[in-house]
Amino acid sequence: MTRLHFASALLPSGWANDVQVAITAGAIAAVTADVTPAAGDECHAIALPGLASLHSHAFQRGMAGLAEQRGDRADTFWTWRETMYRFALAMTPDDVADVATLLYVEMLEQGFTRVGEFHYLHHDRDGAHYADPAEMATRIAQAADASGIGLTLLPSFYAHGSFGGAAPHDGQRRFINSVDQFATLMAASRKAIGKLPGANIGIAPHSLRAAAPDELAAIIPLANGGPVHIHAAEQVKEVEDCLAWSGQRPVQWLLEHAPVDQRWCLIHATHMTEHEIRALAKSGATAGLCPVTEASLGDGIFPAREFLDAGGSFGVGTDSNVLVGVADELRQLEYGQRLKHRARNVLSGGVGRSTGRTLFDDAVVGGARALAQPAAGLTPGARADIVTLDAAHPSLAGRARDAVIDGWIFAAGSGAVDCVWAGGNKVVEGGRHRLRQSARNRFNIAMRRLVA
Ligand code: ZN
Repeated sequence: MTRLHFASALLPSGWANDVQVAITAGAIAAVTADVTPAAGDECHAIALPGLASLHSHAFQRGMAGLAEQRGDRADTFWTWRETMYRFALAMTPDDVADVATLLYVEMLEQGFTRVGEFHYLHHDRDGAHYADPAEMATRIAQAADASGIGLTLLPSFYAHGSFGGAAPHDGQRRFINSVDQFATLMAASRKAIGKLPGANIGIAPHSLRAAAPDELAAIIPLANGGPVHIHAAEQVKEVEDCLAWSGQRPVQWLLEHAPVDQRWCLIHATHMTEHEIRALAKSGATAGLCPVTEASLGDGIFPAREFLDAGGSFGVGTDSNVLVGVADELRQLEYGQRLKHRARNVLSGGVGRSTGRTLFDDAVVGGARALAQPAAGLTPGARADIVTLDAAHPSLAGRARDAVIDGWIFAAGSGAVDCVWAGGNKVVEGGRHRLRQSARNRFNIAMRRLVA
């Protein structure tokens, strides 16, 4: 049993003072407010629940910042994707482990305590299948184990190059599986995470481009009650291609043809009609927003105000991992809305309510739901994922409660996170993960070879 004591802590019911949190076997056993620290309690000032990055492609951390030169034609998502394919095709399993380990260390240092790894780099560099179909998934699990981050592994089903069952192209050769091969991959992936504390598994049909309707229907049962994540309506061209193929838009098609419910998470869902916004909110599915990546790729701006007004639930993900941070995602989400609506505090919960607090609360709940966690926030039964902030950080000094969250998200830049516990293990102290240096060393060696 570990006992922590916080002068101030954000609970699902709101802020509380003098909070003691008891941790057993990686989970929160009890939360008690208004108590003085007992002998042996580890004491800190400000505690928040850890957040999930519900959507990550770990290997892409290696190409962060490498696609920022203008190409010789319209520079869009689709040209970025070519750079991504070239990078993906060069990586060995050891490279993936080293890149993912540093990424997860960085996530923890920034306040993410769980990752939804939307994992599609399955095969060898020539497209041949590894003897162990979960060779790459095992490396992701090793990275999660080393860093301590909670892992929701989402093996991705990818079979086609575009809508209507188009053949995949050569650059996609490391991603491709038939339904039968995917079933084998799922079984091996379950084994790969079997001994990892706090890990769970779902499925990720990559997109309606990559999975045909009959394949989608065939793989959904393989989730076995776990989460189902899919990219949808990220790009205008994708919506146009989907309309040309089916007469329907991606979100519309999914809501009408797939059993979309609370287990589902639609990644991006950037381009929706008013009807789609209301229908997605009503379905209970989570919108998996990746505001930093969506800005980086020029995807567009999610209709967040309208979706929240319709009762929708969202979480955030770091997706391409071009920049990794809880505060960065939530700030970008709000700032996109401000630019769109030419107004301030667009996503605040109401008059006098803190925007940072509203965003943070929603993302905690939506992230936990999208990754099928037993509970969200600092509450008994939840995984002991806890973040403390540095009360002496200049952007937090003199502030209390919601103003601390606003200071962190909108003003602090880096350095506001002090300690992080993931599954009850203290992995970050003084803003620094215990593996930071060794993870950087290994990552840098891989990068010098891959980027050269
Ligand atoms: Zn993605």
